[in-house]
Amino acid sequence: MTSELAAHAATLPQAPVFDTPAEQMQAVFDAQLPKALSLRSSTAAQRIAKIKTLREALLAEREAWYAAFAQDMRKSQAEVEATEMLPVLDEMRHAIGRVKSWMKPTRAWPTTTSLGLKARIHYQSRGRVLIIAPWNYPLNLCLGPLVSALAAGNTVILKPSEMTPNVSAVTARIIAKVFDPSEVALFEGAQATSTALLAMPFDHIFFTGSPAVGKIVMTAAAKHLTSVTLELGGKSPTIIDESADLAMAAENLMWGKHLNNGQTCIAPDYVYVHTKVKAEFVAQCLKALDKLFGSEASRSANPDLTRVVNTRHTQRLAGILADARAKGAGILVGGQVDESQNYIAPTLLEGAAADSRIMNEEIFGPLLPIVEFSDINQVIAQINAAPKPLALYIFSKDSERIDQVLSNTSSGGACVNHCMVHYAHGNLPFGGVNNSGIGSGHGHFGFKAFSHERAVLTGGWLRSEKLFAPPYTPKRFAFIRRIVDSLKLPML
Ligand code: NAD
Repeated sequence: MTSELAAHAATLPQAPVFDTPAEQMQAVFDAQLPKALSLRSSTAAQRIAKIKTLREALLAEREAWYAAFAQDMRKSQAEVEATEMLPVLDEMRHAIGRVKSWMKPTRAWPTTTSLGLKARIHYQSRGRVLIIAPWNYPLNLCLGPLVSALAAGNTVILKPSEMTPNVSAVTARIIAKVFDPSEVALFEGAQATSTALLAMPFDHIFFTGSPAVGKIVMTAAAKHLTSVTLELGGKSPTIIDESADLAMAAENLMWGKHLNNGQTCIAPDYVYVHTKVKAEFVAQCLKALDKLFGSEASRSANPDLTRVVNTRHTQRLAGILADARAKGAGILVGGQVDESQNYIAPTLLEGAAADSRIMNEEIFGPLLPIVEFSDINQVIAQINAAPKPLALYIFSKDSERIDQVLSNTSSGGACVNHCMVHYAHGNLPFGGVNNSGIGSGHGHFGFKAFSHERAVLTGGWLRSEKLFAPPYTPKRFAFIRRIVDSLKLPML
């Protein structure tokens, strides 16, 4: 087991988790084959009708969602609406309004070697797809990709996370109510359920989770040459330069960092702040925390702060915090841990050692190390030396500095003078790059992730291939050479 996987295994629940028997899943997978073939020619109206039925069922369970989220992670009803229901409803509305145009074949304009040929790109459903979801936004990250998969005309098997069992139970009930399993089925369970599903020859796997498990998924997919979309995580850096609007940056970051209690794949993971403005930035962060969550003394009782998902993760975060302190980090605010309540206070740290866990592992919780810088080139070099992050945020009023950072770094997505909200923009691709993911989802990009872009060429009266066909006489050879040489000329 790699150290990455061992660290991951330590976060799994201690109690044994129910797993769906492999034969039961195999039977459903087999039953989905004829359905997937028939769905290939389904119309936009049929796909829209399914998404609408799912929407009704989802909204009919509002109270059940609230109760399940309260039990699983003490998430407030407002946050359930804003971070779970809203993105899925938006995804549904987008798909309902656009799927007809997404499904239309698009014209491919000819290039020199294809003059006179008619070519189209057809968007064909992939077939039987598997969606594996994480626990941190268990409704959003299960049903959001499902909407894209339905819009693209696939059958689906869903595997939600075992860490949020109450939300899973509501999701399972809705799926069973709306769909026949030959079209969409949901199987609850943990690693064994995932492993059995990953052994099946799906046409596409859409996985959201950690890079460590992403590698397992990709290895399993390779056995069948199944295509994958991997929505992974990592350490998303934030840069605050000396020209930034510090009050705005602090308020925005404290909101983004503590949404879902920092358990967000694109949460700001660590902050580089220019030495000249560090003190003022920290003061503004403390002010923003007071405004968002009340005084430090009362924060542990604040119902707006979602809890850490389970004891294992609370212990993991407490371990990261202890390691940072032992290696010299100072606490600017927070630091309180109450394991019995899965509570960790919103915590800002300074002076974290480069070799501490907090500077090397994805934090995924309410801890935020602040790192001073004076040379932006060093910041860029450090970001480039680390695995490519899922998101990168820069707060600055200096457009040259912003361009310098954007053009010299890589990340799945980026925000300038904002954080996290690129996720909510339905016309932007959402995804990572290398260690933070492969492929993207949301809106049209989600539809395309679940579609095969099939090249369809139609021959006409002009048979130009004859000009390139044997017998290769000296004249024919000279002609082909002239054509090849002409490609040096610019396109019209
Ligand atoms: P995880 O990788 O532990 O689990 C994700 C899913 O994989 C779960 O359904 C789980 O049951 C399954 N799984 C776990 N171990 C497995 C194994 N050995 N073999 C097969 N399947 C296995 O991730 P998590 O802890 O649920 O979620 C947190 C991670 O997900 C973070 O890294 C976060 O950044 C990332 N994430 C990414 C996005 C995104 O959109 N890019 C969104 C949310 C979370």
